[in-house]
Amino acid sequence: MSRPDWDVIVLGAGPAGALAARQLAAQRLRVLLVEKQAFPRWKVCGTCLNGHALKTLESAGLGDLPAQLGGVRLARLRLALGGRSADLPLSEGRSLSRSRLDQALVEEAQATGAQLLPQTEALVAAASPGARSVQLRSAQGQRSVTARVVLVATGLADRCLQPPAPIRSRVSPSSRIGAGCVLEAAPSSYTSGTIHMAVGRHGYVGVVRTESGQVNLAAAFERTHLKTCGGPAAAARQVLEEAGFEPLPLGSGGPWRVTAALTRSSTPLAADRLMVLGDAAGYVEPFTGEGIGWALSSALAVVPLVLQGLSDWDPRLERDWAHRHATLIGRRQRLCHTLAFALRRPRISHALLLAATHLPILVTPALNHLNGSFHRHAIP
Ligand SMILES: Cc1cc2nc3c(=O)[nH]c(=O)nc-3n(C[C@H](O)[C@H](O)[C@H](O)COP(=O)(O)OP(=O)(O)OC[C@H]3O[C@@H](n4cnc5c(N)ncnc54)[C@H](O)[C@@H]3O)c2cc1C
Repeated sequence: MSRPDWDVIVLGAGPAGALAARQLAAQRLRVLLVEKQAFPRWKVCGTCLNGHALKTLESAGLGDLPAQLGGVRLARLRLALGGRSADLPLSEGRSLSRSRLDQALVEEAQATGAQLLPQTEALVAAASPGARSVQLRSAQGQRSVTARVVLVATGLADRCLQPPAPIRSRVSPSSRIGAGCVLEAAPSSYTSGTIHMAVGRHGYVGVVRTESGQVNLAAAFERTHLKTCGGPAAAARQVLEEAGFEPLPLGSGGPWRVTAALTRSSTPLAADRLMVLGDAAGYVEPFTGEGIGWALSSALAVVPLVLQGLSDWDPRLERDWAHRHATLIGRRQRLCHTLAFALRRPRISHALLLAATHLPILVTPALNHLNGSFHRHAIP
């Protein structure tokens, strides 16, 4: 049996992959981090690091990073629907562009010893005794590499898990589609330090100013709404108008990008020297802005199991990762899913808005709970 090329190959350099690569390289392992795109890269995301994400970075020794990168402190959430709005205080959170955050995490991984292979698309290939193969495709050609363990952190893109990979991703048929863009300017009512969340009948749009003063838009739309409106800009315009927010110069920004279907789950979460984490492990509609926190905490949580599986892969690791993931992230995802589902019902969403306006004493602790301040289980 020849020695595998790498101890660990991590596929995808988003928050999940970059942090996992850093933590594993810190264990003096030979880590290859493979990324399809050139970095820094922009990604559809609300760019809000909530309390949970900030605390997870802190527990990895990176607590100062968001402030050092200029992340804007978030003080409130302005929730609007049906022409009414409510302002709710946020106890913590920062908005930070994904190009800056993700680039910084990749640099942290490299500084710790991980090797980055950018602009290379990875495809999970077969397992052999003591190793798992990965096919790499880039402008230079195609080749195969092996590792003792392969981590899949490729986000919502599931092309790298094709047969014979033993893990499948199931997409919910009613799933909404994500979309986003960046604007250079917006009316002054879109203040810095506030998450502006417009909820409409067919989707929602989140607007926030990032560290550069640019305005980041991230949305989730029903597929039919996107089609009927003829594209994400018109779909967003309609949701903002319905909610009662001031119009945005949507034509003036960078190009819109859309995502794959948002709600999905992968099964199993690990198999024969292969483990999935971050969005690739499962994702729900992003209403509570927790995805980065889930990605980061899954990265920290997977490390001890990878260390156990390096020399001798025990199938019990597969069950352990499923259990650990369900405890850390599964419950929060179900809560987020339920909230997003409830907000699709006009009566429930109006009742929630009324409660937020008239009973902030009840709603604020719930919001802080969602934001991660009271979350005890999510940080490994
Ligand atoms: C509309 C919207 C708004 C959101 N708002 C927020 C928010 O405000 N706050 C928050 O915390 N979360 C938010 N999220 C969720 C957050 O963006 C994700 O949960 C988070 O990015 C997941 O991180 P990840 O590392 O798992 O995946 P990603 O960040 O998606 O990274 C995956 C990486 O893998 C690479 N890749 C894909 N396929 C391959 C391949 N075959 N080979 C090599 N590389 C590959 C990709 O290029 C990418 O760089 C939002 C999501 C959406 C859609």
